[in-house]
Amino acid sequence: MLQKNRSGRKSTGSVKTKRKSVSKSKTSAAHRKTSAGKSRKNSRVRQRNLRMLLICIILMVGVSIGCWYGINNVQERERKEQEVLLEQENSGSGPEQWQKEGAPYIDVELLTPNEYSRPQIPIESVKYIAIHYTANPGATAMANRNYFENLANTHETKVSSHFVIGLDGEVVQCIPTSEMSYATNSRNVDTVSIECCHQDEIGKFNDATYDSAVKLTAWLCVRFGLTSENVIRHYDVTGKNCPKYYVENPDAWIQMKADIASQIEVDYKLKNTQ
Ligand SMILES: [Zn+2]
Repeated sequence: MLQKNRSGRKSTGSVKTKRKSVSKSKTSAAHRKTSAGKSRKNSRVRQRNLRMLLICIILMVGVSIGCWYGINNVQERERKEQEVLLEQENSGSGPEQWQKEGAPYIDVELLTPNEYSRPQIPIESVKYIAIHYTANPGATAMANRNYFENLANTHETKVSSHFVIGLDGEVVQCIPTSEMSYATNSRNVDTVSIECCHQDEIGKFNDATYDSAVKLTAWLCVRFGLTSENVIRHYDVTGKNCPKYYVENPDAWIQMKADIASQIEVDYKLKNTQ
């Protein structure tokens, strides 16, 4: 009995304990639920805050990049305008005045300084004018100029020219004549280079290109106190087949030099009457 009683008491006690523990576990489960709910809520809030922070950062970075580009573009434009003005000041004039002196119209589209096409190395004194052909049939003067410009990004090779003459006789200036171009190898140090566009593989300049090449070369000769003897082909420096047609047809080159010499005479007369 005692045992029974004991066990009964015991059993009564254990039921109580069980009840207690059940109610405890219910409470702690409810607690867990609440705290789980709370922590879920907290984590949702944290995630939302993180998302907001991330969006803010992305927006700030975007706005900063936008501002940076905007400022850079304005600065780049201002720099190019200043360079054009500087080139015109250095020569004492601009494209209109140059035309009065016998030059064809020159569209000054200077390259952005970069080590692949416009290294900004000064030419101490211009002693030669070198004629080239682009070896790129049908391409325009601006396309050739933009190819030089793009070398700053592609790093493909080092090449450029002071002037490019197009198929319509248009002249684009890429580099100031006070700076070196990468066109005529060992003669880059004292030579102003002219690239001429051509229609086909033969490499002969059409009338418009030829006319501008003669006028531009003659005007440069007068400007730097040179004669037609100082007009050379790329071939005369390195033996390269450039300008192709005028290497393969020496008579055509002799004729071109004679035409340049005549134009130099005309330009000197123009100069004296101004
Ligand atoms: Zn050449």
